[in-house]
Amino acid sequence: MVETIIGIDLGTTNSEVAVIENGKASIIPDQGCRILPSFVGVGDDGTVLVGEPARNQYKLYPDRTVKSIKRRMGEDVKVMLGGMPFTPQEISAIILKKLKEIAERHLDRTLRKAVITVPAYFSDAQRQATKEAGEIAGVDVIKIINEPTAAALAYESGQPGSRRILVYDLGGGTFDVSVVEMEEGVIEVRAGHGNNRLGGDDFDQKIVEHVLQCLREEHGIDGDLPARAMARIDRAAEAAKRVLSDHPFAKIEEEYLLERDGVPFHLAIEISRDEYEGMIAPFIEETLEAVHTALSGAGLVASQIEEILLVGGATRTPLVARRLQEEFGLVPRQEIDPDLCVAAGAAIQAGMIAGQEVSAVLVDITPYTFGTSAFDELDGLPSPHCYVPVIKKNTPIPVTKSEVFYTMFDDQETVIIQVFQGEERDARKNIKIGEFKVSGLSKAPAGNPIIARFELDRNGILQVTAVEKKTGLAGKITIDNAVSKFGTEEMAAARERVGALFGAGRAEPPPGHAHGTGAAVRHEFTKARALAEKAERMLEGASDEDREELVNLIEEINDAIARNDAAALSDPVEQLSEIIFYLES
Ligand code: ADP
Ligand code: MG
Repeated sequence: MVETIIGIDLGTTNSEVAVIENGKASIIPDQGCRILPSFVGVGDDGTVLVGEPARNQYKLYPDRTVKSIKRRMGEDVKVMLGGMPFTPQEISAIILKKLKEIAERHLDRTLRKAVITVPAYFSDAQRQATKEAGEIAGVDVIKIINEPTAAALAYESGQPGSRRILVYDLGGGTFDVSVVEMEEGVIEVRAGHGNNRLGGDDFDQKIVEHVLQCLREEHGIDGDLPARAMARIDRAAEAAKRVLSDHPFAKIEEEYLLERDGVPFHLAIEISRDEYEGMIAPFIEETLEAVHTALSGAGLVASQIEEILLVGGATRTPLVARRLQEEFGLVPRQEIDPDLCVAAGAAIQAGMIAGQEVSAVLVDITPYTFGTSAFDELDGLPSPHCYVPVIKKNTPIPVTKSEVFYTMFDDQETVIIQVFQGEERDARKNIKIGEFKVSGLSKAPAGNPIIARFELDRNGILQVTAVEKKTGLAGKITIDNAVSKFGTEEMAAARERVGALFGAGRAEPPPGHAHGTGAAVRHEFTKARALAEKAERMLEGASDEDREELVNLIEEINDAIARNDAAALSDPVEQLSEIIFYLES
């Protein structure tokens, strides 16, 4: 049996540990939680706290808690923790020890070896300090790899071909962008840039300022708030930020936040995504400047980038992907959990060193975009048929997203919500998969907000709800098999489009070359893999006959992927989608 090597993302804000299980990278949870906050503290009774409990007490007992120690790695300093001096290596070692324990408990055996990731810009001294932290924790650091390299590995493991990738990593307190070149499995960081004082924590801070301003202006609450109240506002701000990643509004409600003249004060504020995006837009623009600096460092222009990977929890903020798409004309990839993808890549590297069979990180994603239509500009003219995507293709499922729309007329009593699947800007060119009406809206001037909520589950069932924000009046529709219903047709159309790229007839790539390149073709691989995975999960419930057929097709697909043969994919993919559709209906 090969020795297990764990992969560790030792992050400034959060850390994760992953391992290869059944050929795939998986993040090891600790009591259901896959993220360990990189906080170390000393509790009331003198015990060492690592992770969530340390993070919880940070605002209340800053002298007994250390955060972001990664920023100090490689410096010849001591930090004070509960009255005692510690080196940065020692604090990091406490986090590493905890991660090692989490992995050992999960795997039920002693572990010694690890691959640890560090930012690409880390100096030798910083890398050395990271190794020392490992040694102190009783972990043999067999390799240090760069974070963007790990991210690229997580996305591309096992895929041959060469490409230029931009890794955009926005964490809690740091931003790093790297230009990565991948050639026949060898990954190299060509250039990088960033700002190690910029991240999601700054976004939280903007919301906190907004709350404080509101307290001041609307409630006359001014001056320093008690630490406990501040800690609650911080928490609530971060939670609201996360909600705004998926929904157009977030409520910040904290009962008994403080007492004023003996009367309890309850905080209740609503913040819209538009307001929030206005607050953070300057930060995002700053990251884009860094992106361009990195590009010129690599001697490249935007159009030479073939793929963008989003890494770091803060990239869940939709404005990030939107701005990058505007700059590059490419849809950034984010189907692998952005806060887990570096650890997954570390595990893949670890597995490769240990000689394990490693396959790509696979997630359930929706291959289609779902949305509705609204009044907006279409080809320069106002039109009611503008498509508004709500759940975009390649989003991991299950997923819930909502968007806000506004009534067009005064006293409008009814809205009709049409649900589409597709990518076309003109909604009429997409496939309409449902429609429903909400009647009895309250008498209101035009601009009455209606929230459309799309919920797509693992089985491809799409629920769309529309709610009048003011009253809660709602209507809803459930669309079964939203994902697989049009699978075959869409697949055939896609095949035709891909085929057309290669000229008439079958999609035969020119010899020696061309299949691993285009993004469209790579996407076919991703989709095919997801389909094969899905089929694997259906094996158990299938009849003997169906199972045999499923197994054959899965094998055929896996073979084609292994040979990087896009042309050989289409037949089994089509057949498999048909069977899946039939099994599901
Ligand atoms: P690091 O690599 O620096 O340790 P992470 O990649 O774990 O950090 O990112 C942490 C940041 O991501 C935090 O600021 C956190 O609030 C933010 N974050 C996590 N989930 C979301 C979300 N759904 N929407 C917006 N920001 C998020
Ligand atoms: Mg990180």
